[in-house]
Amino acid sequence: MNRAEKQYQGDVLRSAFHESPEKIRHATQRPLGRRPNANFSLCSGGSSLMSPEMIERIAPGATIGVLGGGQLGRMFGIAARRLGYRVHTYEASPDSPAGQISDREFTGSYTDEAAIAEFVDSVDVITFEFENIPAAVLDWIATKKPIHPRSEVLHICQNREREKTFLRANGYPTASFRVVGNEDELKVALEEVGYPAILKTADFGYDGKGQQKIRTAADADYTPYLGGKAVLEGWVDFQCEISIVAARGADGTLCTFPAAENVHSRHILDYSVIPARVPDRIQREASEVVRSIATELDVVGLIAVEFFVTTDEELLVNELAPRPHNSGHYTFDACITSQFEQQLRAVCGHPFGSPELLVPTVMVNLLGDLWNDGRPPDWSPILAQPRTKLHLYGKLEGRVGRKMGHYCVLGPTLAEAFKVAMNIKSKIHRASLV
Ligand code: AMP
Repeated sequence: MNRAEKQYQGDVLRSAFHESPEKIRHATQRPLGRRPNANFSLCSGGSSLMSPEMIERIAPGATIGVLGGGQLGRMFGIAARRLGYRVHTYEASPDSPAGQISDREFTGSYTDEAAIAEFVDSVDVITFEFENIPAAVLDWIATKKPIHPRSEVLHICQNREREKTFLRANGYPTASFRVVGNEDELKVALEEVGYPAILKTADFGYDGKGQQKIRTAADADYTPYLGGKAVLEGWVDFQCEISIVAARGADGTLCTFPAAENVHSRHILDYSVIPARVPDRIQREASEVVRSIATELDVVGLIAVEFFVTTDEELLVNELAPRPHNSGHYTFDACITSQFEQQLRAVCGHPFGSPELLVPTVMVNLLGDLWNDGRPPDWSPILAQPRTKLHLYGKLEGRVGRKMGHYCVLGPTLAEAFKVAMNIKSKIHRASLV
């Protein structure tokens, strides 16, 4: 079982928490709102029902609870501690990346009511860094402590069927897709969507897991998806992929970061170039879509939207993530305020800092593939570069495809940052082969 599957045992959980998820979910949340028509700018005022005076401010010194102990929680925790907050994390296994830098690390599954209750009792407000948490757990927590973003947002974004259906129902352009539940439905869907296509598991899909490219009818195999649903997507001929992270406050204030241009390898983010090398029109339209989705979902916290920019320069929404995003890691080093600090400010009811990009940046992921026989790579090609920042997540075991760290090369120009980043990349790769 992988980390996601281990933690997500919804049926068991329902009995553990005694309440029907539907009953509690809708008691604490308002329905999805209307689409706004705001003008583009990096930060703009709110359109929500909550005036700034109605928002509960959680001052430094308070304790923030983070569900999930991965690298996103680790960087969130670093940002929170810098502002004088205490941080408690909840994760399945001890010594997690976020747990290592937390005041307290709680360990338990999402079916362990007693462990979750103890964690919830110990904090003032809760957020999450991990999507495969049963929404029912968030609903239950919401009856005890404030939690942001709200569970309905997570419920939509954690499942590709619900996510794609939300996007289609609200008129956002996506790749053509069909939801399928068995081999026969897959055959019909392939006739409609055409070849090549890509079959993605509806639940637990991340970093390319549960994805299969179908080039011809002979490739179509539903076996790995049996017992669950999947989404079949038409193949998109894209010129590039971009993503935008936005932060939204309880008063509706919205702050968007500059778009990152993302290059994937084996469906996993390899590197990001910031700012994305796309025309201003694309950047503006993408920001508008993010703003609209964030408002529609009534997000309080962060939302990241991934897009394909097609060869015809059309934008298609690929995925949503209601948490910090890998393509937003550059904000930690290169922006006045990072995505992690914006998340903190959103959940604590503070005004946002500026998301301004201080210097063009290239961010490169460091995967476990670089670990040779369990030995970490020699970091000197990164540490020797004075404009480069190395981040390691404290994970001990370097498995293939596992995100172990990243580095950011900061300017002075995008061309120079790119050259240095790629140079480091090839040196580290070469060294890992010997
Ligand atoms: P996802 O997990 O959906 O974000 O997919 C991971 C990566 O696989 C994307 O960032 C793309 O590089 C590639 N990919 C996913 N869906 C498609 C598609 N429909 N057409 C072409 N490439 C895709």
